[in-house]
Amino acid sequence: MLDPAESRPWRQQMIERQLLARGVSNRAVLQAMQEIPRELFAVNLPLELVYRDGPLPIGQGQTISQPFMVAVMAALLALPAEGKVLEIGAGSGYGAAVLSRLARQVVAVERLPELLLQAEKRWQQLGLHTIHPVLADGSIGCPEQAPFDGIVVTAAAPAIPPSLLQQLRPDSGRLVVPVGGRAEQILQVVSRDAAGRITVSDQFACRFVPLLGREGWPC
Ligand code: SAH
Repeated sequence: MLDPAESRPWRQQMIERQLLARGVSNRAVLQAMQEIPRELFAVNLPLELVYRDGPLPIGQGQTISQPFMVAVMAALLALPAEGKVLEIGAGSGYGAAVLSRLARQVVAVERLPELLLQAEKRWQQLGLHTIHPVLADGSIGCPEQAPFDGIVVTAAAPAIPPSLLQQLRPDSGRLVVPVGGRAEQILQVVSRDAAGRITVSDQFACRFVPLLGREGWPC
């Protein structure tokens, strides 16, 4: 794994001040956040900005989530080590890179071709070969690859997309998705048992760019 010496102290500081200080304690998640150089996903920005406590612009009106959000979402998935995870909204590719350290396989769906192409180059550069890129409307998930142990949506949905629920592994699978209006959402963790009963657990308020598509907002 590429491990640029210049950004090592920045990553360490990010982990201490933004994650540990706020209660993120999952060791595998912290290790993954330590390993993935965020600067590769937000090129031409000074490290000070790349590792700040907030989201970053990645072009086309999209953003990479705040490090804290990436870590919390990954922890909420509670993935088994050999798990298979679906990320909707690959964007820069940073979130999928982090997830690839926590699961056996990542399916990363993005609707904007330019973003997905760039993300793929970065995954290759880092030698992350377990991320499977899909250019599609991810609001309907990826039925061919289902079921998933975890599904994470990094864009805001107006309601829990039914297709995503269908593609969760019954009993153990978890869906992490921001649900609400265009301006603000609640991060929800959703699971489904074998009988189809749904459990929803509200986490906290958040702000994501909209999930556009059939089971998202109209394009
Ligand atoms: N996880 C990303 C951040 C993504 S920002 C990262 O780590 O960089 C949200 C992304 O969701 C944007 O790239 C946007 O184009 C994408 N998106 C929005 N609606 C989508 C849909 N229906 N299917 C797939 N991607 C979608």
